[in-house]
Amino acid sequence: MATTSSCKYIHTDTQKLDVAAIYGENLTSIFTAKEEVTAVNNVSFSIEANRITAIIGESGSGKSTLLKLIYGLLEPNNGEVRYKGWLVPTRKDKLIPGHDAMKMVSQGFDDLNLYAKVWDNIASQLPNTNLDYKQSRTAEILKKLRIDHLAQQRVADLSGGERQRVAIARALINDPEVLLMDEPFNQVDAAFRDGLQQDIKQIVRETGLTVILVSHDPAEVLAMADALIVMQNGKILDAGHPKDLYYQPKHPYTALLLAKSNIFGVDQAKALGILTAEPIAIHQEWIDVREDVNSSFFIHEIKFRGFYSEYLISNAEFDIHAIVKTTTPIPQGTGVALEILDFISFPAHS
Ligand code: ADP
Ligand code: MG
Repeated sequence: MATTSSCKYIHTDTQKLDVAAIYGENLTSIFTAKEEVTAVNNVSFSIEANRITAIIGESGSGKSTLLKLIYGLLEPNNGEVRYKGWLVPTRKDKLIPGHDAMKMVSQGFDDLNLYAKVWDNIASQLPNTNLDYKQSRTAEILKKLRIDHLAQQRVADLSGGERQRVAIARALINDPEVLLMDEPFNQVDAAFRDGLQQDIKQIVRETGLTVILVSHDPAEVLAMADALIVMQNGKILDAGHPKDLYYQPKHPYTALLLAKSNIFGVDQAKALGILTAEPIAIHQEWIDVREDVNSSFFIHEIKFRGFYSEYLISNAEFDIHAIVKTTTPIPQGTGVALEILDFISFPAHS
């Protein structure tokens, strides 16, 4: 990694020691357009270097705003963000906004010149002071993103996935320490997403790049992220390792977001044979389904997925989603008994 970042931008600042690589404290960001919106509401977080951290949450939960605060594109109304212990400069501290050690890739490819060739879009990020280096470094980064065969094509003629690779190559050519990505795979065909996700993971492993990825796709963050930050309504609700948050979410919202879990109140739980005083979550794969004509539950809808099936199961009162590994699904309308293999209960304050 380049060590371009003398991280002191603000002359009154002193380095805060013993904090994570990216550290936010009591951050608040308020927009005052027609009405006042608290997009980020007094959040604190720690993001470690050399790995992928994903920010996940429903639309409007404040993910993009948090990413902009981290980069220094937005001035917080309260609180601070530090990179390597130093305050991240904002517009008032720095002529060209954005921390010099970071690069941001937005979902709209706004930075790309559609009518220029791929090669020129990327090479233009390097100065002309060393043309040999410019040539070799551009070739190197094109190769790393597997777009060397596209070098002479115009960006306008590329697919969404290819454009995203160009945008990432462009962001990485100057060796930033941190890559910020806002919903980077939205315009990438599902078939090409896996490959790009794997390549980013590989780059992180090889170079020690720090990645912060905003996403609303659970499959994506579970497959990619080493750490997760869950946002709801401007707040950080849960944070931790993806596996821990999947199996031990602290809030129903997190269970719903990551596992599309069934969230039930006390009465519904009771109908399933679970006596609890608290709301519960039952992941779809935690339900065993077998035919039983005497049950009040029946298969309402079924999606055959090959080696597994997705059932929508109902009784007169409520619905349950279940995923069951089977090659011979139970027909629609059949009565079924349910066995709940596991569940999570949430303390009352959540
Ligand atoms: P997300 O990325 O999770 O969808 P955002 O951070 O974009 O959420 O937005 C959080 C909230 O702040 C939303 O209610 C959004 O409408 C509002 N917001 C975001 N940017 C602006 C802006 N520039 N002006 C006014 N409101 C904004
Ligand atoms: Mg957003």
